[in-house]
Amino acid sequence: MSEHSLKPGVVTGEGYKTLVDAAKKGGYALPAVNVVGTNSINAVMEAAAKAGSDIIIQLSNSGGAFFAGAGMEDGFKAKVLGSVSAAQHAHLLAEHYGICVAMHTDHANKALIPWIEALLDEGEKYYEKHGKPLFSSHMLDLSADPIDFNLGECARILERMAKIDMSLEIELGVTGGEEDGIGSEFDEAADNAHLYTQPDDVLRAYELLNPIGHFSVAASFGNVHGVYKPGNVKLRPEILKNSQDLVESTHNTGHNPLHLVFHGGSGSEKAKIHEAVGYGVFKMNIDTDTQFAFSNPIGEFVHENERAFKYQVDPEDGTPYKKFYDPRKYLRAGEVGIVDRLQEACEDLGSKGKSIARA
Ligand SMILES: [Zn+2]
Repeated sequence: MSEHSLKPGVVTGEGYKTLVDAAKKGGYALPAVNVVGTNSINAVMEAAAKAGSDIIIQLSNSGGAFFAGAGMEDGFKAKVLGSVSAAQHAHLLAEHYGICVAMHTDHANKALIPWIEALLDEGEKYYEKHGKPLFSSHMLDLSADPIDFNLGECARILERMAKIDMSLEIELGVTGGEEDGIGSEFDEAADNAHLYTQPDDVLRAYELLNPIGHFSVAASFGNVHGVYKPGNVKLRPEILKNSQDLVESTHNTGHNPLHLVFHGGSGSEKAKIHEAVGYGVFKMNIDTDTQFAFSNPIGEFVHENERAFKYQVDPEDGTPYKKFYDPRKYLRAGEVGIVDRLQEACEDLGSKGKSIARA
């Protein structure tokens, strides 16, 4: 096995660093797909295997709660247990898909810090048993709070994470739009400075966090969550370059020292995606587009087989509909939708055929 290849499966610690570096050096980024159940996790792994790409799987706090079951009474417990369950599922199955999978959690704002801390309790227990953490990375999005609080909390949590070989994703600047109730109101007309990450803030983050452990930065360069009318989103990838250049020149680092994350990738122009990847983006989050890709074929299936969703046996001609209302039929249609959509994403991000997994 060469130093640039990894065993298939969930990668953490040094393996995660290798994956991130391989993407940056190789000039590609990995899709990071939000999942809500085993159907979406399996579809994402199937998509990655088909594309010959490594992949990032992530859970929002509400995705975690849904994973545990929307009917679970204790909502906080559900967020924690569902996320743990999803990670365990990936640890068990990912290696059998023959690709590398990084497990992340998505936005955690101030109110969700206890969720992250509870996941770290679980991660530490897992580490003790297996010598690796449950998740490769967690995200803290304290961009709505003052920068001193944001960075202070990131440093505090990263101290703890570094001990179990985990990476932290932080957010500087505000990603527009809203995702699972997290995010800011997006003023379509405005050209707000707060929507753009300031290179000075990124430099401060680097100086504080780099000595503690591995971290990545979700920087805002006009990106928004969700999909909006064309023309309303002005992506400015040069903002990413400015941050990289400032850190590089101040600390005499190598090229593109920061590991950058592109949030709100759904519906973005392909040329801007390509440009952002060139400035050190190794991860692009995709949620909205894969949600639609899952639901659209299910909608078509239901529409085409309408009577099977009303009757077990047709009251007029006695046709049995079991093979149509069997949930595997339409859930599979949704999975195939995700698999197909992610082929396009891997193509756009340049990760197709670049998996570094070697059995
Ligand atoms: Zn996001």
